[in-house]
Amino acid sequence: MSSRLVVLGSCGAWPEAGRACSGYLLEHDGYRVVLDLGYGTLPRLLAILGSSVADGLDAVIVTHEHPDHMVDLHGLFRARWFGRRDAPPIPVYAPSGVLNRVAALEDDDASVVRRVFDWLPLPADPYQVGPFQLRSVDLPHFVPNAGIRLSSPGLTLAYTGDTGPDPALAELGRDADLYVVEASDRDQQHTTPPSPEGARMHMNGRDAGHAAMAATARRLMLTHFWPENDRELTRASATAVFEGEVILAEEGLEVRLP
Ligand SMILES: [Zn+2]
Repeated sequence: MSSRLVVLGSCGAWPEAGRACSGYLLEHDGYRVVLDLGYGTLPRLLAILGSSVADGLDAVIVTHEHPDHMVDLHGLFRARWFGRRDAPPIPVYAPSGVLNRVAALEDDDASVVRRVFDWLPLPADPYQVGPFQLRSVDLPHFVPNAGIRLSSPGLTLAYTGDTGPDPALAELGRDADLYVVEASDRDQQHTTPPSPEGARMHMNGRDAGHAAMAATARRLMLTHFWPENDRELTRASATAVFEGEVILAEEGLEVRLP
């Protein structure tokens, strides 16, 4: 069976009109795992699955607890709670703060959320997720953020979630067929409040290009664009330092793998 990554959403922080925030569906060997479920991603996921209760989804991985990466996980919870309450729970690999935020929307009753989802903490030792080995690494962000590396024979995909520049990005994306890297480029627009002082918690196109170059990744997908950014500008700064193909994430974009 052919393998692919479908972009559900490409925006950071909040979604632009007609777009969505972070979310990616990875299909390989008949297995379907979604990476992040930010604002507006769930209807797009359900459309691909052809199921209003997400039948056919095997697992969820969430990098961190910020709503632009996980708020539609609560929508997925509702779909399963009302539509498939007695089905086996769907495994959710995520930092503990993600469970807390979903449970908070259920009057802090984590027990109902645990009935629908099987919670597995990140970062952690490797997991076997369907055909993939899942490795995870803590990356610098305002809250714990797990960088993700999924490997199976003949296919490796890595995804940063949200991060500042970090040496660990080279190993995370080592020789990946596709390295999905955040390029918020938050400072591109003068109207955006400047990034907070201190250690950097996001990257720009040049940082993303450097990360992919250090990792010797085959292809780089830039994503998590700040709303209204000029994405081609971000691509240009990445291609200045990364020699491989640079892809701009776009809602509905399908990338064949490996
Ligand atoms: Zn984000």
